[in-house]
Amino acid sequence: MTVTSPADPPLGACPTWCEKPADHGWEDEWSDGPMRDHVCTIDRIDRYNAIRLHEYERYTRSGRVRERAINLDLDQSENWDAAGAQRVIDALNEAVSKFAEPLRE
Ligand SMILES: [Zn+2]
Repeated sequence: MTVTSPADPPLGACPTWCEKPADHGWEDEWSDGPMRDHVCTIDRIDRYNAIRLHEYERYTRSGRVRERAINLDLDQSENWDAAGAQRVIDALNEAVSKFAEPLRE
C-alpha cells in the first residue's frame, strides 16, 4: 500500500509524448513542492546537441501545476550548414506542435 503524504502526492498523467517509464516518480523537491520532469527528445542531433520538450509538473499547496518548455541543448551554436539548420527548424516545428497539445490532469 502506498501512503500519500504532502511530500508524496499522487502523480498526474504523463503527456502523451513523455518518453519516461509510466508512473515515473517525483524527481526533486522544489521550494513549493515536489517536481518531476516529463521529457520528449524531439531530435537527438548528435552526442552534444538535441532539441527537447519538457513539462515540469509540480504539486503545490494550491494543487498541480504544469509548465512546458522547449529546450535547445546545443553545444554547437555556430557554423550549421543548411541541412543541419533545416533539421533544427523541423525539430522546433514538431516541438511547437507537441507543446500545443492540451495539458492533462
Ligand atoms: Zn512523464
